Amino acid sequence: IEADIRNELKKIQGINKIDINTTAKVSPSRQILQGDLLPTVKNVIAIASGKGGVGKTTIACNIAIALAMLGSKVGLLDGDIYGPSVPRIMGVKEPVGVRQNTLIPPVAYNVKVISIGFFISDETPLIWRGPMVSGALRQLITQVEWGELDYLIVDLPPGTGDIHLTLAQTLPLTGIIIVTTPQPVAYNVAIKALQMFKKLNVEIIGIIENMSYFICPHCKNKADIFDSKGGRVIAEKYNIPFLGEIPLDPLIRESSDNGIPVVIQNSEASKYYFEIAKKVAGRVSVISKSKEI
Ligand code: ADP
Repeated sequence: IEADIRNELKKIQGINKIDINTTAKVSPSRQILQGDLLPTVKNVIAIASGKGGVGKTTIACNIAIALAMLGSKVGLLDGDIYGPSVPRIMGVKEPVGVRQNTLIPPVAYNVKVISIGFFISDETPLIWRGPMVSGALRQLITQVEWGELDYLIVDLPPGTGDIHLTLAQTLPLTGIIIVTTPQPVAYNVAIKALQMFKKLNVEIIGIIENMSYFICPHCKNKADIFDSKGGRVIAEKYNIPFLGEIPLDPLIRESSDNGIPVVIQNSEASKYYFEIAKKVAGRVSVISKSKEI
């Protein structure tokens, strides 16, 4: 749209400098009834995977930032209570403060962030049973000053467990995004996560394939290190939108480790996250229209 506007304006004589500032008008896609725990949050999107290590958290962080950069108000909730890694990737360590028993989340790259990782040390394992974990997730949802948000992105732990059930039963969700790598050992487990959310009547926003291929920096040849196309195979088989693929890129790993996510850097890799974020926004708008909220 920006390019079209720019082209049209350029045709008018006398205009030599064009500044275009875009923001997003996001529609709600979840039914916010009386008693909703997050009445000021228009959309809640959970990111799930079958296996760990497929890049789910990296995607949650980069997509949250991309949506914010595209003009939306965004929050990011680290629901991976047992292995929180959002603080490291987003470069934040603690809440800004507490107001009337409610945590004020830090804002990183225009995204409000909350994680159980703010309250435990890196080396301390959480040895909690299901009810405690579910209670902690509820607190991170309710006792945080989220304010008005277009999107709350929730990074779920891998697999199917208490946290997934608690989330689906605590809040009406916009839907879920499934992340997988291309090889059968990953996508076969991703299918289980997918089926679980279908059973819980949660909308499947789409599937993202990560680590899809690797371009050798020396010979520039493409290598399918983890096989190829697994994400597309599930998308077709289960008739779910395919939101895109992201290659293996050492810059993505380095940036995450350094707390400066790749999407804010002017790099080849950032394009993939932006494209996917735009598709997610498009899907949310379609879901919102279909529900006539
Ligand atoms: P998960 O949340 O699924 O457990 P993470 O997001 O923590 O996975 O990613 C696992 C590791 O893989 C991290 O070190 C991360 O930086 C790295 N990683 C994720 N996606 C990519 C990618 N496309 N290219 C290179 N490294 C990646």
